[in-house]
Amino acid sequence: MSFCVECGATVKTIQGLCPNCFLKRHELIEPPGTIDVVKCVQCSKLQVGKAWVETDIEGAILRLLEKNVRTAREVTFRTFTFDVRQEDERNLLVTVKAVLKVDDLDLVKDFRTRLRVHGGACPTCGRKAGFYYEAILQIRADERRLSDEEIDETVGFTERIVERAASKGEAFISKMEPVKGGVDIYLSSHDLGRNIAKGIRAKYGGTVGVSPKLFGLKDGKEIYRTTHLVRLPRYREGDVVRMEGRMFEVVSMGQRPVLRDLKSGERLSPTGTKMERGRVVESERFETEVISISDKEVEYFDPAEARNAKVPRPPNLGEPAKVQIVKADNESFVSMLRREGAGKRH
Ligand SMILES: [Zn+2]
Ligand SMILES: [Zn+2]
Repeated sequence: MSFCVECGATVKTIQGLCPNCFLKRHELIEPPGTIDVVKCVQCSKLQVGKAWVETDIEGAILRLLEKNVRTAREVTFRTFTFDVRQEDERNLLVTVKAVLKVDDLDLVKDFRTRLRVHGGACPTCGRKAGFYYEAILQIRADERRLSDEEIDETVGFTERIVERAASKGEAFISKMEPVKGGVDIYLSSHDLGRNIAKGIRAKYGGTVGVSPKLFGLKDGKEIYRTTHLVRLPRYREGDVVRMEGRMFEVVSMGQRPVLRDLKSGERLSPTGTKMERGRVVESERFETEVISISDKEVEYFDPAEARNAKVPRPPNLGEPAKVQIVKADNESFVSMLRREGAGKRH
């Protein structure tokens, strides 16, 4: 036993420091914020380092941690124990307890990392498919880049349809490629390309274009490949849009968009051409306590400004205890979106 030169604790020390102080002084572990893992969309094998292993995600976590978590030179031995929570279809939150051996003391460090699962093809399935494809599905957005969430969602949607089709016959993803502004997905059949493109449009709105291209001849027959270009709408749910001098919030997209006038509360479904005349305004929204409601105004607490503020009362508001405020172009309004939490867009 000796004592810590930093805090004076009488314990076994490392380089004159107790385990606590030593941990504070030394970055012993560098956990990654996210670990990306590829799952073969055909056979479900997971890629761990260079190997493809037949296991579920939980079975691969230890190996993934070993490959992706770096520890300092002083650490002579380490063990990980973990707990996993599925966040959504593609993301898992892993809470890890690392026991790090330095000299002959075990130091404990907790951290969290996110496991993000991507669809891909293992070499076996890739060879089997011979990088065969009939259709390219190009997913983009109108006048903007696809957001990460949109890529996650549309790729997830595509994988689900391919999985369902694969259970009835041959269907696979040959390749998936992030490109500027979106993602390209190479699919085994024309039908698959067409169905997924239509499905995405039905779910998220937007447009679909198809262009067939003569690819070559096989046994005297012409071989075509088709490109299905899906363009998601310019606006997203929750966007604030200035259109013809009025401010709207986008209540929903899909095939018929619904916009709500932030001042009058009027709801409308403008045509595509009219929508094109609008532009997205930078906005911020937050939920807050209502202080009072009169016929004309709602008084609320603005946490960012740390003071009370008033906005016009929208029709049909009722008497809620909390409201969501949306700020755009230096004006504030009561938002009527049924969106949870607060966040900043753009
Ligand atoms: Zn100490
Ligand atoms: Zn495979």
